[in-house]
Amino acid sequence: MKILISADMEGATGVTWPADVLPGTPQWERCRALFTSDVNAAALGFFDGGADEVLVNEAHWTMRNLLLEELDPRVQMLTGRHKALSMVEGVQHGDVDGIAFVGYHAGAGQEGVLAHTYLANQITGVWLNDVRASGGLLNAHVVAEYGVPVVLVTGDDLACEDALGYAPEALKVAVKDHVSRYAAVCRTPTRTAADIRAAAKEAAALAVRRAPVDGGPYTVAVEFDAEHLAMAATVVPGVARTGERKVAYTSGTMYEGIRTFKAVTTIVSAAVEEQYG
Ligand SMILES: [Zn+2]
Repeated sequence: MKILISADMEGATGVTWPADVLPGTPQWERCRALFTSDVNAAALGFFDGGADEVLVNEAHWTMRNLLLEELDPRVQMLTGRHKALSMVEGVQHGDVDGIAFVGYHAGAGQEGVLAHTYLANQITGVWLNDVRASGGLLNAHVVAEYGVPVVLVTGDDLACEDALGYAPEALKVAVKDHVSRYAAVCRTPTRTAADIRAAAKEAAALAVRRAPVDGGPYTVAVEFDAEHLAMAATVVPGVARTGERKVAYTSGTMYEGIRTFKAVTTIVSAAVEEQYG
């Protein structure tokens, strides 16, 4: 049994503040250890549950956050940027039986600790076939195309609630309870590691590859906080303006859908001005 862990940082133990997840800051250095503890706990739980292989795919910012040297020796880690499937890279080779979303968070425009979808502020909402979408929901549709079930989700309590919509059977572990976008009641790493390990052990039983889902076409709508960003996004072929601050595109598969989304966020990031946004 092979498990893929997609590891994002905003939903990690103890993390509530932008500097906690901003590479290079002293607070990020501290939170890397907490994040690594969550990921390692998940890996240990999956091994407890019978996994033979656990591959961790770094999925936050520069995708170079985890402390490899702190992970269980059986774990392998994919670190660094520029990957065909970004946050769920590694799922496409036909050998993954289940995926865990560790450190996930609610989506843009939703309540949740450090809630956003890909871009921290410029995206104010994403909809997939008219359903409000978090990054977790988008990624869940990508992995379903490869027949891989989401078996475990960790994050704040609202990330877990969000996951009820896209992975109802998955085990969920809330490592903190949302108070505001930048505040949470946090549990200690000793406690969350135990909770995550126990849930991952149980989740291993759900890691059974399914028939690939052919659910297209997928229409993705994206709303921005400024109208010029909507115009900038239309540089991407197939992306059309549908409102003053909104664009949409349709893809036959989620593979194409998530890649176009990545192109949109890359173009839009380049169009943001420091003072006026
Ligand atoms: Zn992140």
